[in-house]
Amino acid sequence: MNKLAPTQGDRVRPFYDVLVAGGGPAGLVAAIQSARAGARTLLVERGSMLGGTTTAGGVNFPGLFHAWGRQVIRGYGWQLVARCMEESGGSLPDFSVIPERHWHHQVQVDRAVYTLLCDEFVTDAGVDIRFHTMPAKVEPGAAGWQVTLCGKSGLETLRARVLVDGTGDANLATLAGAHLREPAGERQPGTQVCRVSGYDVAALDLDTLNRAFAEACESGAVRPHDAGWNVEHPNVGSWLKKHGENANHIPANDARDSVGRSRMELEGRAAILRMYRFLRQQPGLKQLRIEYLAPECGVRETVTVGGDATVTGDDYLSGRAWSDALCYSFYPIDLHLPDGAGLDKRTLAPGVVPTVPRGALLPQGLKFMAVAGRCLSSDRVANSALRVQATAMATGQAAGAMAALAARSGTDLRDLDLTAIRQLLAAHDAIVPSKGE
Ligand SMILES: Cc1cc2nc3c(=O)[nH]c(=O)nc-3n(C[C@H](O)[C@H](O)[C@H](O)COP(=O)(O)OP(=O)(O)OC[C@H]3O[C@@H](n4cnc5c(N)ncnc54)[C@H](O)[C@@H]3O)c2cc1C
Repeated sequence: MNKLAPTQGDRVRPFYDVLVAGGGPAGLVAAIQSARAGARTLLVERGSMLGGTTTAGGVNFPGLFHAWGRQVIRGYGWQLVARCMEESGGSLPDFSVIPERHWHHQVQVDRAVYTLLCDEFVTDAGVDIRFHTMPAKVEPGAAGWQVTLCGKSGLETLRARVLVDGTGDANLATLAGAHLREPAGERQPGTQVCRVSGYDVAALDLDTLNRAFAEACESGAVRPHDAGWNVEHPNVGSWLKKHGENANHIPANDARDSVGRSRMELEGRAAILRMYRFLRQQPGLKQLRIEYLAPECGVRETVTVGGDATVTGDDYLSGRAWSDALCYSFYPIDLHLPDGAGLDKRTLAPGVVPTVPRGALLPQGLKFMAVAGRCLSSDRVANSALRVQATAMATGQAAGAMAALAARSGTDLRDLDLTAIRQLLAAHDAIVPSKGE
């Protein structure tokens, strides 16, 4: 009988230089950088596709790669975004113009093409991928770590010299015993992204619609946060103008475990169903249809890891130039308030471009491990800006570079020569901050 040739997905070896958990903006770029630097790299993703919040969460507008008229984040993340625009015929914003609103410089990528390109970028780099798999147990091993993975057919244990946590929720670092920083009180709400069509906004009587929405809130048929971020002033007209994209707030307390996450997924989809039923009863909206429902509810906040260094809101707003900076970050402070009062938004002063130190990627007390993306070491205020996709990609690339160097040299990430890390990053198209403190 003919034996099927092994596919890329079959190729999981018992030993890796670098294991990355989570294939979102941070993890996929970390894996690409690690493999491109010569490390045998495995990427373990709990879902069926790469891209994380950009793809499964439907938030297909990565930013910000540019600040004050110049590019501050490039590397593999930017290459992926730029390739997607080239291949899908999209146009990039004019980055030489300082935008009135920060989001004018986000790049709207085609969701489908971007998802396909993520696979291609990662496989072309030589990364082994395991979808539908999560780490279940992490223990120190003879030459690094022993990681037990839970896949569809059960448990499997393998070894890796260096681990990179790109799960957004610090799931891998938690299993390895990292110290976590949990926000006191409620977390920022998430958002269930969808896209609705089948109506002409210009032809709608928005005042009447908003009155009907207020009445439906009274009766319990809908909830104020179904139609917006500010529950005092829900605006169904604005929800319709945005076609339902990134336009609700879903309570998200402890979405880092399966119980909290399940609650959130159910609540996110229930919010869309309430809006669908309500809107289709209104004049001019009888033909409204849901043309896209993101596979997952988007999570803004769970926990961060306590690192060797912690980026605070003051560091971020003042544009602190850390002496061990490995990349830039650029975004307004963007805290979504759980009490339904909208946003705490603070823009950066002209010329300010914050940096991210190596220490924020290194979990305190743990060797041969890095974190990247949303769970990097930062306080709540700084994290509300650091979490965005371009920064997640840049921190992922920094983590991937350190992981590859550490695996090759047997030197812990915190003891690696900073110049060597920066040179490797620059050789792989990343922008590295030039001035330290
Ligand atoms: C509604 C919303 C709007 C946003 N708006 C913007 C915006 O306008 N611009 C912008 O740039 N950013 C925006 N963000 C922020 C940004 O999308 C995320 O913070 C960013 O994607 C974080 O990247 P990450 O790689 O750290 O995590 P994620 O994107 O969350 O990716 C994590 C990946 O890890 C996987 N994973 C999770 N747990 C495990 C596990 N235990 N084992 C294996 N795999 C695991 C997930 O499936 C996922 O693929 C928004 C976020 C939300 C929710």
